Amino acid sequence: MALAEIQARIRAAERAAGRAEGSVTLIAVSKVQPAERVEAVLAEGQRVFGENYVQEAAGKWPGWRDRFGPVELHMIGPLQSNKAKVAVELFDAIHTLDRPSLAQKLAGLQQAGAKLPRLFVQVNTGEEPQKAGVLPGDLAGFLNDCRGLGLSPVGLMCIPPEGEDSTPHFAMLARMAAEHGLHGLSMGMSGDFEAAIAHGATHVRVGSAIFGARAYQ
Ligand SMILES: *Cc1c(COP(=O)(O)O)cnc(C)c1O
Repeated sequence: MALAEIQARIRAAERAAGRAEGSVTLIAVSKVQPAERVEAVLAEGQRVFGENYVQEAAGKWPGWRDRFGPVELHMIGPLQSNKAKVAVELFDAIHTLDRPSLAQKLAGLQQAGAKLPRLFVQVNTGEEPQKAGVLPGDLAGFLNDCRGLGLSPVGLMCIPPEGEDSTPHFAMLARMAAEHGLHGLSMGMSGDFEAAIAHGATHVRVGSAIFGARAYQ
């Protein structure tokens, strides 16, 4: 089945890159997938999932966590500040810290007593105007501001421009993470996760290669 094949390809890519077995976490991206497909993957033992929409995730995952036990949930879609509180309660990691207003919102929740999920800063490596993420040239300042607010991001995340070779974007993200002493690298999707692992990805976000094509309504 697809999950086992993807896991095997991840292990092979780790070996090929000379990296320790298990150094890459597979995030199964379950957004808008039919419940029976997600339940099949849960039944196979997968316990790390990614979602893009707070409301959708909040509707699905409490019930699945009751049935299947602890599941690590990663928020990988754009996060509106007015959904941050729900997201902080639901998710174990947020990969899309992408702007000062969201950093301030999260810092406020932390000051009010919330335990924050692990945070990844999304970087707009392709400098695409329509895409979320901190511009590479703004990253140092943004990280400084985050730390000033009491936030401690653990890594960086990127979504390379569509239709382009992802490799230079992965290399750039890895270089920036090293420069700033960040260990986490969230990069690589169904079409390019092996290249991302070669460049040091610690988290790959794979949806359609596991679940099949998404059917948006
Ligand atoms: C949907 C999505 C994925 C998964 O994409 P696939 O091509 O289906 O593997 C990964 N990352 C992000 C940010 C996404 O929105």
